[in-house]
Amino acid sequence: MKELNFSQSVDVMFNRAASYMDLSPKLLEKIRVCNATYTVRFGVKLRDEVHTFTGYRAIHSEHKEPVKGGIRYALSVNQDEVEALAALMTYKTALVDLPFGGSKGGLCIDPSKWNAEEIERITRRFTFELAKRDLIHPSQNVPAPDMGTGEREMAWMVDEYRRLNRTDIDSAACVTGKPVHLGGINGRTEATGRGVQYIAQEFFRHNDDKKRAKLRGDLDGKKIVVQGLGNVGYHAAKFLSEEDGAKIITVIERDGVVRNTKGINIENLKQHMISGEPLADFKGGKVSTDADALSDECDILIPAAMEGVINKSNAHNIKTKLIIEAANGPVTAIADKVLRDKGVVIIPDMLANAGGVVVSYFEWVKNVNHIRFGRLQRRREENKATLLLDALEDQGGLKFTKKFRRDYVDGAEELDLVRAGLDDTMREGFTHIRDLLAEKPELEDYRTAAFYRAIDDIALHYRSLGL
Ligand code: NAD
Repeated sequence: MKELNFSQSVDVMFNRAASYMDLSPKLLEKIRVCNATYTVRFGVKLRDEVHTFTGYRAIHSEHKEPVKGGIRYALSVNQDEVEALAALMTYKTALVDLPFGGSKGGLCIDPSKWNAEEIERITRRFTFELAKRDLIHPSQNVPAPDMGTGEREMAWMVDEYRRLNRTDIDSAACVTGKPVHLGGINGRTEATGRGVQYIAQEFFRHNDDKKRAKLRGDLDGKKIVVQGLGNVGYHAAKFLSEEDGAKIITVIERDGVVRNTKGINIENLKQHMISGEPLADFKGGKVSTDADALSDECDILIPAAMEGVINKSNAHNIKTKLIIEAANGPVTAIADKVLRDKGVVIIPDMLANAGGVVVSYFEWVKNVNHIRFGRLQRRREENKATLLLDALEDQGGLKFTKKFRRDYVDGAEELDLVRAGLDDTMREGFTHIRDLLAEKPELEDYRTAAFYRAIDDIALHYRSLGL
């Protein structure tokens, strides 16, 4: 069987779940198709010449607005890719109960070929083109970072949107993933990797989940292979190793592979990569350039780079028990079937990497409310907690240590609230899938259950409108 392209792969997975549902084919078609894709070509004068760039913004589903989804900067960006990614955004937001439709954008560019000033000019021009058509707008379409973009690009985008919309009081809500001092939220940069950690923790809390993957115990000492040490892969690997005791035995990057059976120090490796030194000079592990490191034997494989990396050609060689899809679409539909037949358990992208859009939601709510989380309640909560401890000491004869007092009394900061809200949402997303699989064991795997739940949620929306 020929390998499918990205959106065909997503459709195969969608259809597998839909085949278990009692929905009309016409309604399923409406839910599955991408509503619109805007392609723009624009010129920017750089280095004394006009350079033409191609950008896309796909809107998969507007059943809820605004639509939400990242903007990717990479040479590989194309219409099929943004449409597939936009579809995954629709299903993801439905699965974790966010009030958004799905969208995704991209610009065909190799960011390493341009300096910061040039990327700023290109980004501002792209923003202008999107803003003209309300494809960046607080109540219509809200981009966020993805591969090749981050806080810096979001800062330029919000600034450009503000220039064009001087009187829009909600302008900060036109993109998420902004720096905190421009209306961003604490914890957004780490959010997707943090969400991957919370999902892994949730998996290891439940014996039935572990049994599926023939895993035991907790995350401590589990051998993990990570592909891609960018925003998502770095944070996931850092938190899982530093806070849960997991051993990152292999990191696969574009320019090489680092291995260390005792566990790689992720912070040291990241700092080495940032310094610009060649990967080959990293001292904290054995560095090679082999192409088959995804098949290193491990307990958990975390692809966190890009789509289609586990495919027809290498799926048979994968030697892990559990795959946590931190990237979008890392496993093709053909590979998915091969892995299912081999008994490899997959926590699908639409759940595993939902952390980014969950915290983006918190940021957007903060922006439209024009107040940071905890601002009204924090001191009042602290005063009430102090009152209680004082009364227990004065009248109950108890004595609390300074540390206990501080831990108990300190009101929650924005970051505490964001992490707690993220953890809750990720756990709840997993619970939806687990419960559905218990009720409908014929669905067999987490991915099919996740699609089922998402499709069902969107169908309910349309049915409520009499469709
Ligand atoms: P990023 O650009 O910060 O990092 C990607 C990393 O992967 C880079 O270090 C790059 O060198 C590496 N890489 C690229 N191709 C590779 C390959 N073939 N082999 C090995 N390494 C490779 O991007 P990111 O934001 O971390 O996104 C990674 C994935 O996570 C994408 O699929 C993206 O759609 C998905 N995702 C990101 C977010 C987010 O909040 N940033 C949210 C949800 C999903």
